[in-house]
Amino acid sequence: MATFKQVPPMSANFGQACYQCFAEQTPEKQLSRCGACKRIGYCSTACQKKNWKEHKTLCKALGELETTGSGMSLHFYNLSDPTAGDSINTMELTEFTNMSIHADIYFVERALGRPLDMIERNLFAWEPRCAACGINERMLRIRAREQGQGSSTQLQKCGDCLSTFFCSPRHWALVKKTHNTVPAAVNYNGMTLCQINQLIREDIRVANLLREGKAQQGGVSSPDFGPLLPWAPNRTMEGWKSLLETDWEKEFLGGIAEELPFPPGTPMKPFLRAASDNLTLPMTILYALERLYGGDLAFTREEVLVIHVIGAADLEVMNAMMFEEILHRLPEVKRVEILLCGPDMGKIGGSEKPGGVALSMETCPECTEKDRRRVQIMSSSLYHDYVAKAGASFKAPALAVAFNSGASEVETDSWKATMKVLVEKKIPTVFTAFNRGEAEKEAALLKEAGAELVPALGPCRNPWGSMLFKVEPASLEGFYNSNGWFAGGFK
Ligand SMILES: [Zn+2]
Ligand SMILES: [Zn+2]
Ligand SMILES: [Zn+2]
Ligand SMILES: [Zn+2]
Ligand SMILES: [Zn+2]
Repeated sequence: MATFKQVPPMSANFGQACYQCFAEQTPEKQLSRCGACKRIGYCSTACQKKNWKEHKTLCKALGELETTGSGMSLHFYNLSDPTAGDSINTMELTEFTNMSIHADIYFVERALGRPLDMIERNLFAWEPRCAACGINERMLRIRAREQGQGSSTQLQKCGDCLSTFFCSPRHWALVKKTHNTVPAAVNYNGMTLCQINQLIREDIRVANLLREGKAQQGGVSSPDFGPLLPWAPNRTMEGWKSLLETDWEKEFLGGIAEELPFPPGTPMKPFLRAASDNLTLPMTILYALERLYGGDLAFTREEVLVIHVIGAADLEVMNAMMFEEILHRLPEVKRVEILLCGPDMGKIGGSEKPGGVALSMETCPECTEKDRRRVQIMSSSLYHDYVAKAGASFKAPALAVAFNSGASEVETDSWKATMKVLVEKKIPTVFTAFNRGEAEKEAALLKEAGAELVPALGPCRNPWGSMLFKVEPASLEGFYNSNGWFAGGFK
């Protein structure tokens, strides 16, 4: 069996959880830092020994970075003080932080003579830094050596979230001004940055629990591959229920507490958040259908409901069973047909021919008994090519959806060609995005392609976006959620 390297969570990259087994530091159980690089911590010498073979070369390179390399970062740091006045210059801070991370990675890669892998890069991208000035502990130690003894070489952290760091009381006072406010770029249920940090920490704990459980069952999983908690309620609803006046908790919290084998009294909200990361796929589709057709419920009575997923990737394939929730919420529909379309499908058996092979997927006993089906077709074409190849036989789906397309960031020209076809063929469409910035940029692209956007579908928050926050390394308000925002919808 191939050995599988698990990606250390944010807390391990902060030095607040064992870098080998991810056990969290508690007031009773402190970690001991690697004595050489001081960058990571371990819960025991056993864990340190286990990790040493892997850590050894990077540890040495970090030592060289400290003696000869980080001076460069400190030099730039001394040039630009992002906290000159009584507030933080976030532009300068972001610029310095990015520059410093890149300089460090550049130095270490040269010292090692090879590129860093993603796990190693996380150690730089997630290195604790003062939230006001961007200094890290390595730079603090260099400065202390240059200035002689006396100055502190450790960062302090917010006692509530443990995820925001500062180098001095003055800088904490500056940070506090925004730390307990609601960031506009996220705007999630009125939560502050500190509260979101706390939520993320709780979610990491739950992810560890779920992963441990899977490991015990002999399964293989990681935070970056496959659904964390592939759960959807095991029931078919009696009829269509509007998704406008309800939310994640009302729809799923009861069911998840009932169906998952946890002792009564277990707090279920973190598990709901984990499940929402997968359930966001069908729920976003259903909500978009309801909004797009503005009260016309014909889609709930289609014999065959056809959905096209544009730019589909592994995520949708691994989460395919989630689409059964569409069947379960639309009891009058006989068949749900999902086209997964995108170049990534080529790697996993997608066909280039339009139409492709229709696979009848496994359904729950109730659906099987009633001969209700979930059909999946994979095409490795770009969507505009798919439409062109289908020619006259092309039939518009009830909805085409691009999940977290990133259309404004990567492959923008190709996405523009797809948007043009979607508008020209009047295909009912919705685009989702990870965050507000991407949603707004994609909305502009859609308008440029001639789309008349339905106001309820963006750019705005998606009430059925994943509840799970993910952290963008080296970013100030860098939280995002899968399908967290609608970029735009039109038909
Ligand atoms: Zn450990
Ligand atoms: Zn080390
Ligand atoms: Zn500072
Ligand atoms: Zn905090
Ligand atoms: Zn079913």
